[in-house]
Amino acid sequence: MTIEALFDTKGVTVAYLNPTPRLARSAWSCAEYGDPDVFSPTDEDQLLEAQEVCGDCAVRELCLELGVSRDEWGVWGGVLLEGGKPLERVKRPGRPRKVSA
Ligand code: SF4
Repeated sequence: MTIEALFDTKGVTVAYLNPTPRLARSAWSCAEYGDPDVFSPTDEDQLLEAQEVCGDCAVRELCLELGVSRDEWGVWGGVLLEGGKPLERVKRPGRPRKVSA
């Protein structure tokens, strides 16, 4: 079975808002989480909080595979993604600092 067969991805933009109907909602640790904003973290504390939730999630590997395959942004499977590529840290908003030569 492919990952697409496991997840109904039509219209899905973020995992925590649209848990797949083919898996029990309770399998998604973030489905009932009180602060879904942490899955689009703006600082390292939010990222750590999201990763803590993902740490116990039953669909973590599938979630990450889905996020990567769909070039997603935010935390998927405990990994911060930017266009499906893993990031080590949360990017600070604004322009990058100038580096003097
Ligand atoms: S791995 Fe994280 S983001 Fe993915 S479904 Fe589980 S708790 Fe949600």
